[in-house]
Parts: sequence; structure tokens; C-alpha cells
Amino acid sequence: MKKDTERVNDMQKILIVEDEEKIARFVELELKHEGYKVEKAFDGRKGLELAESGEHDLILLDIMLPGINGIEILRRIRRNSNVPVIMLTARDAVMDKVSGLDMGADDYITKPFAIEELLARIRVILRKSAVTETKTHVLHCSGITLDSDRFKVTYNGVPVELTAKEFSLLQTLMQNKNIVMSRDTLLADVWGYDYLGETNVVDVYVRYLRQKIDEKFGAKIITTVRGVGYVIKED
Ligand code: CA
Repeated sequence: MKKDTERVNDMQKILIVEDEEKIARFVELELKHEGYKVEKAFDGRKGLELAESGEHDLILLDIMLPGINGIEILRRIRRNSNVPVIMLTARDAVMDKVSGLDMGADDYITKPFAIEELLARIRVILRKSAVTETKTHVLHCSGITLDSDRFKVTYNGVPVELTAKEFSLLQTLMQNKNIVMSRDTLLADVWGYDYLGETNVVDVYVRYLRQKIDEKFGAKIITTVRGVGYVIKED
């Protein structure tokens, strides 16, 4: 997400991923009329490629798409980004709504929709994200999103329940991603210099994190550097 504060007067850029070209073109026209910049994709692959550019302030994402479906696109976007996403769903597709929201969509709108309603929802979400961008402290790394203001961690959009110490250890590793952290440094950062317990507490908590993230999701987040400590790597 963009962080500069001089963005208020910039045109906000919206990505439409929708294979019904008539709908896509109509929405594009209306959005441009409202002063937004618009990019569009008519299939899942192109949509994912554009979404991963990270250039958009908001994404309108259809679910049933040729190539890659909208839920899968959302899952991949959420590995690295909090960009607001509104899902476009077919009427009565309750499962789509549920899985979309579970995967981290911000809102959904059922087709056919009134353009005024869509525009109103876009305004609300963009306003909300403008506020949170300046206020929250959110870290992203290898599919993990850690929000230190809300004390919330997700892996690919799925919530992960952590204790305060586990959270703090993960946060320290994420803040220092790609830097190998020694056990002593982690101990001082997370438990404090005056900690008097066992030094293997770091290993114990790394194991807890691995149980809750790596083992649960089949991921490999924390790497052990033998004889030194731990690191979260991201290319
Ligand atoms: Ca469709």
C-alpha cells in the first residue's frame, strides 16, 4: 500500500476483473466519470497479473472467471497486500460470499447491482482505507499479515490465534525479515534484558509458532540458522 500523505489529490486507481465485458465497460465508464483511474481484465490470469502490480487503491473482483477464479485471485493477493477488494457475486451464491469474506474481501455486491450502490460502497471503503493506512502498523511477509494495532495475525487471510509472547516474537522476526536474529537478541527484544528464565524459551516459542502456522498451513515461515538463531526469509 502507498504510504505517502500527498496522495489526497491523486486520482485513485481501481482495477476491474470481470469477464462479462459489457458489465466491465459500463462500470469503467461510470468510475471514470466519478474521477477514478480504471484498469480492467476480462480473465483471471490477466486479473491476477494486474492485481499483483500493487498499483491499485481498490479491486472489483468477479468470482466466476475463466483462467483463475476470483477466490483464488483474492487468496494470492492477500499473501502480500491489504488492498481493498469488493467481490462481485452472482445472485444467491451464499458460499461465494462466505468464502470471499473469509479470504479477506472487504465487501461484496450481488449482480445485477445498481451502479449507485457500487459507487457508494467504493467511496466508503476508500475512505476507510485512507484512514487506516496512516494509522495502522501492518507487516506483511510470506503470506503472513501482522497487525500490531489490532493484535491480529492472518496467514493467507485465515486468522491465526497467538498468545502475546508468540505475537511479539513473530513481530520481531517480521520487523527484521531477512536478518538472522540470534537467540540472545530475540530473548532481549521479546522477553526483556532482565529475563531470568531458561534461554531455550526462544526455541520453545519458535516451536509454538511453527505448530500454529507452519504445521497448520503446510508453510515454512521461520528458518533455523544452525548455531546462530532464526530468520524469516522473503525474496
Ligand atoms: Ca463472471
